[in-house]
Amino acid sequence: MNVSKKSATKAGTALPPESDRLSKLFIAQQSASRAMVDVPLAWRLERLDRLQSLLDAHGPALADAVQADFGVRSRQLTDVADFFVLQATISQLKANCARWMKPVRVSTPIYLQPATAFIQRQPVGVVGVIGPWNYPLQLTLGPLATALAAGNRVMIKPSELTPRGSALLADLLHGAFSQDEVAVVQGGPDVAHAFASLPFDHLMFTGSTAVGRKVAEAAAKNLTPTTLELGGKSPCIVDASCSSADMKDVALKIAHGKLINAGQTCIAPDYVLLPRGREVAFQKAYASAVGRLFPTLLGNADYASILTDRHLARLKSLLDEAQSGGARVMELLPEDSGKAPPVGHARQMAPVLVFDPPAQSRLMTEEIFGPILPVLTYHSLADVTAYINERPRPLALYWFGTDSRARHEVLNQTVSGGVTVNDTLLHIAHHNLPFGGVGDSGWGAYHGEAGFLRFTQQKPVFVQSRWAMGHLFYPPYGERFQQVMGLLKKWL
Ligand code: NAD
Repeated sequence: MNVSKKSATKAGTALPPESDRLSKLFIAQQSASRAMVDVPLAWRLERLDRLQSLLDAHGPALADAVQADFGVRSRQLTDVADFFVLQATISQLKANCARWMKPVRVSTPIYLQPATAFIQRQPVGVVGVIGPWNYPLQLTLGPLATALAAGNRVMIKPSELTPRGSALLADLLHGAFSQDEVAVVQGGPDVAHAFASLPFDHLMFTGSTAVGRKVAEAAAKNLTPTTLELGGKSPCIVDASCSSADMKDVALKIAHGKLINAGQTCIAPDYVLLPRGREVAFQKAYASAVGRLFPTLLGNADYASILTDRHLARLKSLLDEAQSGGARVMELLPEDSGKAPPVGHARQMAPVLVFDPPAQSRLMTEEIFGPILPVLTYHSLADVTAYINERPRPLALYWFGTDSRARHEVLNQTVSGGVTVNDTLLHIAHHNLPFGGVGDSGWGAYHGEAGFLRFTQQKPVFVQSRWAMGHLFYPPYGERFQQVMGLLKKWL
């Protein structure tokens, strides 16, 4: 039976006319998902195997494409942040898919017994995935793997700012999957908007808060549920309990979290909150950590370039504005600075520390997304929690110290998407921790079972017993009804 375009969309929603190809792909996926509602385990595992084989066979070519898109980005970074994370994700999905897709029995309250009840877990249908450029493989293929494990069809819109990586991804996925299973759509904001306007059964967006708002608006027109993985300013608190001896290790961990991918990481520490009086110690320790991680800058393949000239110009303008507002800017230049950059390495930006940044500057109100680290100082823990709570809720929060009372205070008095204590970034790598934002940093979390359930309809099923006494509650209401209600209330 053919499914007409009209009947394939949700009631009352019209597909945008300019997106004919998108509509056709969507309708093909929707028809396929409606034709196979009950998706067997074998189908799911076989798709995960296909994805793993694609990564095994074409990992180096994908890493080269990403490297070319960035100018400089080490293969090792793509290896750990994209391929290793994906492999761990696929392994975990394969190991748990059978268990996670099973119905979950729930206990039945005494007033409904002897009925039984369970929650049936079904694929939602067609999932849309819109990805950013900073970890272009992990952030498109991770949601893809999770949505396939949950039995769904998937359409992906990767970033137009990593054109080589996105084009290769499209070729490879179209070679490995039929387009009614997995389809890739390429293009800029116009295509992305048309994509977000499709009546998906779930739309997962990873990107900036500003674009996330547009995605939420487009999805709302179709009542499409969304997962928004956004950005923000993630604070990094150095507690007074960190000794001078600890500072070296603390600064190294902060520098690593900040400078991996040259600060172009959603959960990078955006700024540091430091006990007043520790500025010199931190400055020295951070400078030495930077020197240890990146002894040279120009042409150092371990230190990523800023993606485009536009992104680099924005970072420089944030610095200029802060400096003209009175901030002290300290560029951490390695020994080879001053030399001409090798071809293709022109956008490697030296790490920068900024002390006393003006509160209203863009540096302190926008997500930085580059190798600039503002340092703010505080008197008391109450100052710290007040500062964080007066601002949009961050995607991540970092706390360093040994005083467990202070740690509890910060954990209890602040709300963030996630937390790593005494390190940076690592909560994202723990696949039993749901990963996501809160408020302006997003909604809905994925990874592990949380991700599987994000793309799963949890359908409650109530099964009445033939011995049920429900008729005792039927009208006409009289004395019998009163007696039964009285008895039931005693049982609660
Ligand atoms: P972006 O928001 O500019 O773009 C992301 C995607 O949205 C791209 O594919 C783009 O084409 C698409 N897009 C553009 N306009 C659109 C529209 N009107 N409707 C629908 N989609 C549209 O983000 P970016 O610059 O690619 O990535 C950087 C941002 O992503 C940072 O803010 C970072 O913090 C965030 N990020 C978040 C996470 C997370 O897991 N929370 C991970 C990585 C990056």
